Amino acid sequence: MDRRTFLRISGAVPVAGLGAWPPPDDWARLRRQLAGPLFRPGDPGYPEAKQGYFTMYDHRMPAAVVGAARVEDVQAAVGFAARHRLPIAARSGGHSYPGYSTVDGGIVVDLSRFSGVEVRPDGRAVIGAGARLGPIATTLAAAGRVLPAGSCDTVGIAGLTLGGGVGVLDRKYGLTCDHLEAARIVTADGRACTVSRSAEPDLFWALRGGGGGNFGIVTGFTFRTVPRTDVATFDLKFPVGTQAALFAAWQDWQPAMPDELWSGMGLGADHANLGGTFLGPPAQLDALLDDLIRRVGTPPVQRRRQVRDHLSAMRSFDDRESRPGLALNRAAYVGTSRMLLRRAPDPAAVVEVLLAAPGVDTIIDAGGGAIAAVGARETAFPHRTALASFQFLRGAEPERGGEAEARRAVAVARDGLGPEFGTTGYVNYLDPELPDWAEAYYGVNLPRLRAVARKYDPRGIFAFPQGLSAPRSTVHIGET
Ligand SMILES: Cc1cc2nc3c(=O)[nH]c(=O)nc-3n(C[C@H](O)[C@H](O)[C@H](O)COP(=O)(O)OP(=O)(O)OC[C@H]3O[C@@H](n4cnc5c(N)ncnc54)[C@H](O)[C@@H]3O)c2cc1C
Repeated sequence: MDRRTFLRISGAVPVAGLGAWPPPDDWARLRRQLAGPLFRPGDPGYPEAKQGYFTMYDHRMPAAVVGAARVEDVQAAVGFAARHRLPIAARSGGHSYPGYSTVDGGIVVDLSRFSGVEVRPDGRAVIGAGARLGPIATTLAAAGRVLPAGSCDTVGIAGLTLGGGVGVLDRKYGLTCDHLEAARIVTADGRACTVSRSAEPDLFWALRGGGGGNFGIVTGFTFRTVPRTDVATFDLKFPVGTQAALFAAWQDWQPAMPDELWSGMGLGADHANLGGTFLGPPAQLDALLDDLIRRVGTPPVQRRRQVRDHLSAMRSFDDRESRPGLALNRAAYVGTSRMLLRRAPDPAAVVEVLLAAPGVDTIIDAGGGAIAAVGARETAFPHRTALASFQFLRGAEPERGGEAEARRAVAVARDGLGPEFGTTGYVNYLDPELPDWAEAYYGVNLPRLRAVARKYDPRGIFAFPQGLSAPRSTVHIGET
């Protein structure tokens, strides 16, 4: 059996990307339908148009990139993919860890032209699905508002929100998806609709934590925002050798803190750092940090605290230097995650596992506060009561052994953690090799999410390797 026949029978990859299917006339018809550009292999602009954030996936060859300029373009792309049984994926910020928004042999719907950010007089923000966090934060700040979100400027609002959206103010304000009031979405049947608590409530529920790439292609969001305030930021560097003491002290200290205090740790073989934010009087913060230092038992070698305006506070966390392999706009690294559900009884054993993973940096972000004030089943994001998320990162540059070596290294940390972590993970830090990924990412919400996927995408138009839709099972050559 040749590769083409095998793929046709297995349905693993539609045949379209392998040859001249769909026929040129069909592509030409699609091109004429679109207000935005269509890039096919060989077209000028195709190599740039297909690029996501991670360089490891540059070898992938989408059959086309649709530079959607209006909702009808998204509908046309979905209809074309459905008719020709091509895989299809939306791309907003392009930061998917496994590169799922660069789909080999399929159609990438690039939403970067949907980049509008409008702040209404009532403080609501209407944001295009292709907008990125940096421009969103800047526009909102100019209007005196804030959307709690991640602090990396280039991440897309769509992927971030659909997976939950954690950030340095979320103990006070909750996840980004908790601020979502409505979304405009093109579903698998090509319909464009607005979903909210009262319109298609199941789909609206699923879009708040159910993960990017599932259910349809979102073209825009309406969020509630909060008033902009100054933020105190802090960072403490502890001497090497105190990693276990810091983690042990932190897991008792952080949950006892007011919601106004959020902190995260960076742990690796050569560092034991803590940073965070506080929305309150600096003197109170100083006393709270003194308490942590007492618990660690070793004074930090560096201690800094600064009150900043909202935007510069966020930028102080977008520290590109601290991320492995990160160039200004693109990067080569892999990530995976676990959620700490309860206090680890043996914190030293946890840190021993982390430090045994070669070249891996661990980022531990606090949960609790407003995140935990929402029930696990109220939105699709299930890890409401987790104490913290653990993210494991390792550079995947060719000189460090590339992607395969990096995945082996992060798996040491991911798989070595004990029962306190269980089958857990954060869907925005997708790991294509995570065993039991669906249970890990969705927990108690998995059955309802699968039912929503069956209802809105019964034919698996949006299926992908870690998607919730059942994959399409057959491919009929010649069917249009
Ligand atoms: C440098 C960096 C910093 C990060 N910081 C944070 C952080 O602070 N907090 C946090 O929670 N996460 C963070 N993440 C993880 C981030 O939230 C996810 O990678 C997220 O999926 C990225 O979204 P995107 O739109 O940029 O990516 P994309 O690659 O465009 O999309 C991600 C997934 O969503 C799908 N998708 C994209 N657009 C749409 C759409 N319009 N409709 C439906 N599906 C869509 C894609 O097909 C893909 O499967 C970070 C990631 C990186 C690389």
